[in-house]
Amino acid sequence: TNNLNPARRHNNILKGGLFDRGDLRQEVAFQYAVDRVNSVKSSFRRSRSRLQPVIEHIPPYDSFHASKRVCHLLRSGVAAIFGPQSGQTSAHVQSICDAFAVPHIETRWDYRMRRDDYSVNLYPHPSSLSKAYLDLVRLFGWTSFCILYEDNEGLIRLQELLKTPPQEFEISIRQLDRGSDFRPTLREIKRLGDTNILLDCQTDKIVEVLKQAQQIGMMTPYNNFIITSLVSHHHFPGESSPPWMGVSDGDTEYQLRMGVSDGDTEYQLRMGVSDGDTEYQLRMGVSDGDTEYQLRMGVSDGDTEYQLRMGVNMTGLTGHIEFDSLGFRTNFDLDIVELDLQGFVKAGSWNLVLGANYTRTYQEVHDQAIRGLKNKTLIVTFAFTDPYIMRKKSAHSLTGNDRFEGFCVSLLDEISALLGFNYTLVPIKDNVYGTKNVETGEWNGMIAELLSQRADMAITDLTINYEREEAVDFTMPFMNLGISIIYKKPQKMAPSLFSFLSPLSVEVWIYMITAYVGVSMILYILARFTPYEWQNPHPCDPEPESLENQFTMVNCMWFAIGSLMQQGCDILPHAVSTRMVAGMWWFFTLIMISSYTANLAAFLTVERMDSPIESAEDLSKQTKIKYGAYRSGSTAAFFRDSTLPTYQRMWQYMNSTPGVFVDSNADGYQRVQDDNGLYAFLSESTSIEYVTERKCDLVQVGGLLDSKSYGIALPPGSPYTSVISDAVLSLHESSTIQVLKRKWWKKGQGKCSKVRHCTSN
Ligand code: GLU
Repeated sequence: TNNLNPARRHNNILKGGLFDRGDLRQEVAFQYAVDRVNSVKSSFRRSRSRLQPVIEHIPPYDSFHASKRVCHLLRSGVAAIFGPQSGQTSAHVQSICDAFAVPHIETRWDYRMRRDDYSVNLYPHPSSLSKAYLDLVRLFGWTSFCILYEDNEGLIRLQELLKTPPQEFEISIRQLDRGSDFRPTLREIKRLGDTNILLDCQTDKIVEVLKQAQQIGMMTPYNNFIITSLVSHHHFPGESSPPWMGVSDGDTEYQLRMGVSDGDTEYQLRMGVSDGDTEYQLRMGVSDGDTEYQLRMGVSDGDTEYQLRMGVNMTGLTGHIEFDSLGFRTNFDLDIVELDLQGFVKAGSWNLVLGANYTRTYQEVHDQAIRGLKNKTLIVTFAFTDPYIMRKKSAHSLTGNDRFEGFCVSLLDEISALLGFNYTLVPIKDNVYGTKNVETGEWNGMIAELLSQRADMAITDLTINYEREEAVDFTMPFMNLGISIIYKKPQKMAPSLFSFLSPLSVEVWIYMITAYVGVSMILYILARFTPYEWQNPHPCDPEPESLENQFTMVNCMWFAIGSLMQQGCDILPHAVSTRMVAGMWWFFTLIMISSYTANLAAFLTVERMDSPIESAEDLSKQTKIKYGAYRSGSTAAFFRDSTLPTYQRMWQYMNSTPGVFVDSNADGYQRVQDDNGLYAFLSESTSIEYVTERKCDLVQVGGLLDSKSYGIALPPGSPYTSVISDAVLSLHESSTIQVLKRKWWKKGQGKCSKVRHCTSN
């Protein structure tokens, strides 16, 4: 206190500031703070006191020099000492201040979680900061990320994250390279596919790190960086103050507040039963807008806290300043800022009680994505499949996107016209769609292209399935389909030599022969018995020596066959008995011949169109007809992952039979045609529909085995997914997609229906 006296005489309070040489920013902030205290109307000002800064520069990390400057300052009678920033020196200054009972104010990051009696550190406490980063990572929903830190202290700042159970986050940790070239580490991170990066380094290095990240292509819309450095900004003091005197009844809070106000300063006595969270308190204090000096006694039952608190609550340049019972600044407000096209925008806030809150609305994020897409050129990877994307046939040599045409190109044109972006079509190598290697977990084809961010979008007849959806983002589907079988159409065969027998079955033919023989014998026997069949061989001789019977065995058979063939015969029965047999036989032959004739006509006109397989079950039960699917597609994946016995059996067959998989749908259709009924191809109904209209000898067999959709794929976490989804939906609703489908499916079609027409003529 002796030290303070000379200064007090002039109502000037000296305040020492120690700054590392070259640390201009701290010095400017210090000057600003002093000016602000001196200029802002407050109780301090009214007491006619002024702060007067005394600034000393010291070489960084030089404790000896620092201690000499501190002594010098103390001799000049400073009321408090501020700084310096470097850790060792500051600790040294702190202990001197403690010995002389002079307050020491620091604003530096101090990972040691302890302090001396006379020191106060305005820098947010490491434990709270660490919690803030954890909350932020949770808020963004990151499940895997890479921590890129500069020095060991950085890891202390991030300790809460490192303490999380391994199943919550997949964290990889990497240290920034020493020196100024950070590319090797960044390249390594990129190679391992980490897109979320938590960057902890000195503020002045951030720009360089990000610049180098951009040079190696890590500043795409799919990379997310959380930068842990705190950048203070102006904080505007809160809104209205509480009602001045009275009993307030908002949320069952019965308080009596009394006090005197003289415009800026509020001297108040507060007593109350606030029943928001059972808080019975008696508060006395002086508050002057920014700062609140208070004595608090109470039973606050938020977390069962019976407190007698004395302290200072105030709002400074870095927002709310409050010290906990140990004198640490654990409760503070952080703003979460995001880089938008217009610069930094506040995206949310954090404090100890409420955690991290994202305050940007869906609409704001959506609008940002739309703005981000305008005039951007997206790289679109694709695989050739008719009629989705095909090479355009032209007499001239074509360049750029003009080389390609098809349903998907038209769809892309529509979407890009809606959203105002450009695109470059790049065909994928080997026309591979993308499947995951079950053993290594690696993707191939277009999906790998998206994952490595070499492409911004993948479009073709790309099926949305669970496995892919886990790896990349899909938009709303633009077409629905299911797996089906495509097979050779059964051919009309030349009638065989014995095809006249086909109207009646073999049994019927055998019965008829038996009936014929039987009837002939009965006729023969009856004719032997009846006297009326014994005729006079010479009608002129009334007394013949012998009579003659025309129904010999041979004649009986001749008679029966004559009537069976509907031809009649020159011998006819005379006796009633034989006539009855003949009548019955004739009636029988009438029925038989009529039905034979009718059936024969039908057999000759109807093409026999039976197919040996009618469904997937039929396929799975036989081995004569081989079957397969496209190697790297969703159809093969469907069979691989199915739990139904039939499909499992089919997968086992396909997987163990060499040569049943093909490298493209077109190859599959060709093989079905070439193998002439010995190969069936499993493919998707929309493609089958297209092909069967053009290859007339192919036909879809059976119904759909499943139901799924095609969508546009984007890299995981792409900001454009929802915007493009919206565009797809609106194209659905305006029927544009249906019109496009009709256009591309009907183009050049009608060949097969004409062929059928000709044959029936
Ligand atoms: N549409 C399939 C896919 O996205 C390719 C064709 C197929 O597997 O039948 O993988």
